[in-house]
Amino acid sequence: MKKKNNEKKQKEESKPAVAGCNDSKCYIHGKLSVRGRVFEGRVTKKFPTRIAIELERMIYSRKYERYYKSKTKIHAHLPKCMENEINIGDLIRIQETRPLSKIVHFTVIKKIKSAGEK
Ligand SMILES: [Zn+2]
Repeated sequence: MKKKNNEKKQKEESKPAVAGCNDSKCYIHGKLSVRGRVFEGRVTKKFPTRIAIELERMIYSRKYERYYKSKTKIHAHLPKCMENEINIGDLIRIQETRPLSKIVHFTVIKKIKSAGEK
């Protein structure tokens, strides 16, 4: 009897882990809710759980009555299920969420274009 029980246990342990992501900060699989502003930009840096994107916007200068370009850097949370999909140079969409850390209050929503595409 004892032997049989041991065999059962071993079988259960060898089961493959459930595929997918167990990231609680994933807006699809986790409990994170998104709201607020949406931005699109190019990925400039990639870290294990976050990315930095850069976006260009036009600002109107009243003094000179002209528009000028300005670059903004934003850090966004990268869910585990998108880790392989998103690389440096990709055009992605991010949306505002609750503050996840000191610098992260956005999360990646989806990929629009890869680095190679125009
Ligand atoms: Zn996920």
